[in-house]
Amino acid sequence: MSSTVPLMSAVQGAKEGAILSNDSGLVHYRSRPCTVTLDQQAFAVHAQDKHEQLLIGYPASSLIGMKYKIVTVKGKTCYRAELFFYPTVSGCCGGPRAENRRQRRVVQLIFNTNESVLIQWMQTIQSYVAGKQADLAAADPSTTYEVRKFVVFVNPKSGSGTALKIWRQTVCPMFQEAGIEVTLIVTEYANHAKEYVSNMNHLTAAVEAVVIIGGDGLLFEVVNGIADREDSAQVWQRLVLAPIPGGTGNGLIKSILFSAHEEGTPMNAAFCTIRGAALPIDMATVTTKSGTVHHSFLSLAWGLVADIDILSESMRFLGEPRMYVAAVYFVMARRFYEGRLCMKLVHSTYQTSSPVKGTPSLKTNKINKLLPADVDGGDGWVTLEGRFMMVFAVQTSHCSMSMFSGPGIALDDGLFTVYVVQDIGRLGLLSLLLSFDSGDFINSDHVRIFKCNEYSLQPLTKKGRYSLDGELIEYDLIEASVLPKAMKVKGMP
Ligand code: ADP
Ligand code: MG
Repeated sequence: MSSTVPLMSAVQGAKEGAILSNDSGLVHYRSRPCTVTLDQQAFAVHAQDKHEQLLIGYPASSLIGMKYKIVTVKGKTCYRAELFFYPTVSGCCGGPRAENRRQRRVVQLIFNTNESVLIQWMQTIQSYVAGKQADLAAADPSTTYEVRKFVVFVNPKSGSGTALKIWRQTVCPMFQEAGIEVTLIVTEYANHAKEYVSNMNHLTAAVEAVVIIGGDGLLFEVVNGIADREDSAQVWQRLVLAPIPGGTGNGLIKSILFSAHEEGTPMNAAFCTIRGAALPIDMATVTTKSGTVHHSFLSLAWGLVADIDILSESMRFLGEPRMYVAAVYFVMARRFYEGRLCMKLVHSTYQTSSPVKGTPSLKTNKINKLLPADVDGGDGWVTLEGRFMMVFAVQTSHCSMSMFSGPGIALDDGLFTVYVVQDIGRLGLLSLLLSFDSGDFINSDHVRIFKCNEYSLQPLTKKGRYSLDGELIEYDLIEASVLPKAMKVKGMP
């Protein structure tokens, strides 16, 4: 077999800046001889005639992979290649969307060449998709090519059992298109994923990403399982987590996609997992009175939001209306808790994500405002003591698909944003509950807002609960600190 087919010019090739191009008549698109080029901007197929008409093209950034198979055309053996693209589609009236929707597009090409050309194209595309184009330019592609390896967890109990369907119908086909090698673990019991990732034989350096298809509960298991490892520092350095929404609470992936103007769908999340970069985001430790250290990425709630989490969990059978039933319940009950909240405030200018049109913006003069009853320790720490309806310390823009818990919050700001509600009547409470989805609650006069990087909370009311990233934890004194940029997630820079 000749290996000098003039089709392949992976980077070293003829065209300036090209990743792939062909310049002979050996590729056909819809029965027409064509010229195919892939550079950093675009994938394009041009007719090979004097008009060089553009036959099809997509942004290079939307390409995820290529597959091929042997076919017979007019009695002649050749190869049919499929290239897979997930470009964004525009919103109504052709205008841009606040959150981009992606759609699958396939380009079929017929190659009258030997197979080595197709292998080279496929590997070049896979390396480019993996973000390794610099390596390709430097050396022979066959020496730098490496199959990408993901560990994938699917919780078959997540949401209403949708996670498995999402894996089979959306995510698995996309990973196959991208040529990714997968170790699949369908969890069999709670803490299965946690046990797996804490085992030192797993998550070796060859594993690029851990994909979590489920809700924040499954993600919490994985994060805390990694934190349990002796080599957790090294693992956090190299490993990237990639949540895919498949549960009832998908706060972290919603926040990641929202900040990239991507729609909060499994397809967009899988696309970010394949094409995204490793983005460092903050983690937090929450230490309980008995000494357990939890690692968290979303929020700690005490009072109102914690009670809603738990109550609405027990009303799962009601479906969507449960939030409204819960709201009526909370307005009637209007429960307060006694306690002491200490925060180490951060007064610098706040790094916020770029504001999204039509969303509430945080008024900076509302932040860290002290009242006469607050105790300023003079050492950066302030203490609020008394009656609370809610203490809600958040790290992400969204705590679930529909709760806009932190308009303007960046995932790597190194801060907790703490919402405190102390005194509030029934009417105020009702409007507060109804403004969680839109994020408008941040501008309520009843909500105080603090930015801190450490806090402690001592409940004085005996009965109560915490919800840490949606999980119940020991209810007593807790101490929390931000670990800035301590973990990595797949996202769009
Ligand atoms: P949801 O968002 O719907 O609650 P999660 O993925 O957060 O879905 O999972 C909820 C809980 O299910 C988590 O606390 C997790 O530990 C637990 N879990 C994981 N796998 C299983 C399983 N196979 N059977 C039962 N529970 C499981
Ligand atoms: Mg933060």
